[in-house]
Amino acid sequence: MKVPYNYLPMQFADVERIISEWRQLISTTEFTLGPYVERFERQFSEYLGVKHCISTNTGTDALILALKSVGIGNGDEVITVTNTFYATVGAIVATGATPVFIDSDDRFQIDVDKIVPAVTNRTKAVIPVHWAGASPDLNALSTICSEHNIYLIEDACMGIGASVSGKPAGTYSSVSGFSLHPLKSLHVMGDGGMTATNDDDLARWLRTYRNHGMVDRDHITMWGINNRLQPLQAVVASIELESIDKTIRKRHTNAKILDSGLSDLSDRIFLPERKQSNVENFSLYMGLFQDRDALRAYLEHFDIETKVHYPIPLHLQAAASNLPYTKGDFPNSEKQAEELLTLPVHQYLEEEHVQYMVKKIHDFYD
Ligand SMILES: *Cc1c(COP(=O)(O)O)cnc(C)c1O
Repeated sequence: MKVPYNYLPMQFADVERIISEWRQLISTTEFTLGPYVERFERQFSEYLGVKHCISTNTGTDALILALKSVGIGNGDEVITVTNTFYATVGAIVATGATPVFIDSDDRFQIDVDKIVPAVTNRTKAVIPVHWAGASPDLNALSTICSEHNIYLIEDACMGIGASVSGKPAGTYSSVSGFSLHPLKSLHVMGDGGMTATNDDDLARWLRTYRNHGMVDRDHITMWGINNRLQPLQAVVASIELESIDKTIRKRHTNAKILDSGLSDLSDRIFLPERKQSNVENFSLYMGLFQDRDALRAYLEHFDIETKVHYPIPLHLQAAASNLPYTKGDFPNSEKQAEELLTLPVHQYLEEEHVQYMVKKIHDFYD
């Protein structure tokens, strides 16, 4: 039996619907912003229950624009985690601000107890990440940020469909960013991103900035950039949004089988706590596995594809050599990086695939 990690060939096996909607779009020649992009922005803001969603070209851009919209730039510090995807920190650096790393907790989320000690008089924002499609403690984060008068900007790039205390990922912040990259819970056939805010002024700024600063064809009110979502991708996003709840339900079913099937190996495998207050989207099914690399090779031999997200925490990357960090600074993230393994959990796996994985993992430790 083969257990593939990549679900895209199955997801896009039948593209008739997409192509037929593309034909309609092509016949209108609405190739820059226009009705298809506006439709998806409206649908996505209804889905989240926020006032404004402004699409961008990528999730990275969504984070850069979110940061810039609240005025973050040169000389500012932005606190985030060291166990995230490069782009969280790349976005901070792209604005001219300095990233300040802190450690992860045992759920692989930002350790909220480490935030206050990292705040200085230059701290402008905290970017928590909805890592793996689970979520950090956003109620605690909201309190910390308002007490210290700093912005909360969620990196909800992996968080579409996740929620905390009934509130969707990406709706706790002044402004947040989402990714529509093919490996995210809601995605297009290439790159795409989205920002979300309830603030009318931030929304106006974001809309204007991502489209050259134009208020109309002949007038600009600021020096903007071109950062527009492609209408062809907006069509795909609208179609995919129809099935996201079903997709996440299936991922839950598969994750439950893994959680219970692996629970008797708790001396070898550490699985993060599943918080009652959170709905996870299982973008990634991650745990800490003893003898990770040997297990990975063993599973590969039995056609079970796994990943590591990621083997090197960001403070130990060459790109971070100008920042004041060394090995040992963030022990939890460093230990996790050595033992993390991501198992396939996607919506095209049936119970037999998941049980096969559980069996092979038991065989390995036996
Ligand atoms: C994917 C991802 C991004 C970047 O999104 P892109 O659309 O690939 O630019 C940023 N942060 C996190 C946590 C991500 O997973």
